[in-house]
Amino acid sequence: MKANRNSVLTINGGSSSIKFALFNKEEPPLQLFHGEIEGMGSKNAQLRFTNSMTAQQNSIPLPTADYSEAANLLIKWLEKQQEFVSIEAIGHRIVHGMKHTNPEPITATLLAELKQISVYDPVHLPLAIMLIEIFQKQYPDLTQIACFDTSFHASMPSVAKQLAIPRRFSDKGIQRYGFHGLSYAYLMQELKRVAGNETAQGKIILAHLGNGASLAAVKEGKSMDTSMGFTPTSGLVMGTRTGDLDPGVGLYLIESEKMNAKQFNHLINHESGLLGISETNADMRELLEQEGTDHRAAEAVELFCYQTKKWIGAYAAVLGGLDTLIFSAGIGEHSPEVRKRICDGLQFLGIELDEPRNEKNEAIISTDTSKVCVRIIKTNEELMIAIAVCELLNHSVKS
Ligand code: ADP
Repeated sequence: MKANRNSVLTINGGSSSIKFALFNKEEPPLQLFHGEIEGMGSKNAQLRFTNSMTAQQNSIPLPTADYSEAANLLIKWLEKQQEFVSIEAIGHRIVHGMKHTNPEPITATLLAELKQISVYDPVHLPLAIMLIEIFQKQYPDLTQIACFDTSFHASMPSVAKQLAIPRRFSDKGIQRYGFHGLSYAYLMQELKRVAGNETAQGKIILAHLGNGASLAAVKEGKSMDTSMGFTPTSGLVMGTRTGDLDPGVGLYLIESEKMNAKQFNHLINHESGLLGISETNADMRELLEQEGTDHRAAEAVELFCYQTKKWIGAYAAVLGGLDTLIFSAGIGEHSPEVRKRICDGLQFLGIELDEPRNEKNEAIISTDTSKVCVRIIKTNEELMIAIAVCELLNHSVKS
């Protein structure tokens, strides 16, 4: 990898997917292709990719259910792309970094720290570390950069960061951090682009509703509060995660069900949420299809919409009003039904959905007279990673 190193690879490793994209180092970075390994851990895993210039899509089946094998197959596929030789650095989405929030090069020290804290985020961190090490082994000279999902929330006031446990724990960094920061940073950047600076400086609620789901309250461009806390398991009910849980339930599971830490982790991160309630699946689209015939699916959908509505109410109170509500991620971008149920009853806050606009997933889905402008913005975490990596590379060249 020598000549013309002018592109950045982004890697966003989740529990069931690895998203990737390649960008030319321009201002803003220009996406050349993007893709995803879907269905990780299943026998139906496949690598889907899109040429960002031509929008041409392709997919190939991946004959493995193993995460590290799939990652190695991804590298083999990347090596076959003509742009591979131009990669100057890889940017990784790192969900949790404790005190690390700004993008930084991945050194042996940082990697060791990430390994230490991976116990707090067993859903994301071990997989991200594995991906970093696989690239490191094969391309030891390639710069790898960590882009933290907590960065956006560093601005939260201390009251929103505090957990009500003895002070000695907060001295160890046990506090609320908040996540989905790359997505929120993109949504704010995009809001400014499409609606102007004045709107972006207003009172805004961002709802990132995907398999992982959270909301953030933003004022004057700064995060004031967010539903996830010390880990991405907290907050809103999610695909397979509990969201907020009475700590007494933890005690019950340990005392009465004799659960150990590993079983508890599995229960709260992989067996709960929409999956736990429906007993069938974690996928909102499928639950909506099943809810007419299966009351458990109906209850899962109802709880998701109810909790999201509650958070919107709470954050309108935090902000002292509301100007803009933004829906994003898989459910937020694609489900008129869920958006409608969330917004139903929020007319008192000035939220009035326009049904035809909502049905068509339009960019603005509120009525022209709605006091609150309700928007859909497709998120783009990969672009934010690429921007952060380019800035860091440019900075290190200049200094
Ligand atoms: P992740 O957190 O894994 O990135 P996504 O943002 O891709 O998740 O969101 C996945 C969720 O979006 C799933 O629950 C999926 O069912 C839901 N979803 C995608 N399209 C639709 C749709 N048309 N209607 C309802 N839900 C949808």
